[in-house]
Amino acid sequence: MSATEKALVLKTGRFREADVWVRLLTPSRGIFNGFAFGGSRSRRRFVGCLDPLSHVLFTIGTNKTGAYTVLEEGTLLHNFPEVRKDPARTGLAVNCVKFVEAVEIDPSDAKPAYDLLLETLHMLEAGGGSSDFTPWLFRARLAFDLGFTPDFLRCGVCGRPLSCECGHRFGVERGQVACRTCLSDGKPLEGLARPISAGVLRALDWIQHSRPSDWASVSMDNEVRRQASQLIELFVAYHLGLSWEGGMYKKV
Ligand SMILES: [Zn+2]
Repeated sequence: MSATEKALVLKTGRFREADVWVRLLTPSRGIFNGFAFGGSRSRRRFVGCLDPLSHVLFTIGTNKTGAYTVLEEGTLLHNFPEVRKDPARTGLAVNCVKFVEAVEIDPSDAKPAYDLLLETLHMLEAGGGSSDFTPWLFRARLAFDLGFTPDFLRCGVCGRPLSCECGHRFGVERGQVACRTCLSDGKPLEGLARPISAGVLRALDWIQHSRPSDWASVSMDNEVRRQASQLIELFVAYHLGLSWEGGMYKKV
């Protein structure tokens, strides 16, 4: 039995003379490898489909014993030519792809991860994106999509809106903000916590409700950006167990 499904090509490699393995992300299966036998020679079955960062409609089956996944043919939907041409944008796209790979997406979380990556590629293709924002906004958004969704506008202890400007703290482990009143009443947050300003809270709330197309025109005060991105890196390191070091994501 074979089925057709849209997929993002994350990585490819040749094996034997004419065969290609392809690492894919699809909305229903998550990340997996498929084999395109004769893929590097076929001008008909895989035209333009076997390059990283391609969006492809694949017909996907298995070999006779069902032991591995076979890509039978593909139809190219988009190959993001502007992203490929520009090394800076290629780098941003690859950074996002590496993060998705490192997270080890469960198939039940595959749809939001696929949608987020696809929308990010379209945003980069349209000329948006910057090294100051795209990588950490992508990490933040994916962590939120995977179910780690702090409320940045209300105190997690008393439930009141966080209206005043200062004195709040963000507890990384429970993804909760505590207001100044609760903190001074002696209800401290458990575990790792950091001071957080109202500006950073608003920025994080905006990120949580943004889509990649919104990131093309984002601007933030430098200090807000620095603090918000640091909190996101702590949050991602704690909940997803990953940090970016020396050009790759490492388990922490
Ligand atoms: Zn409170």
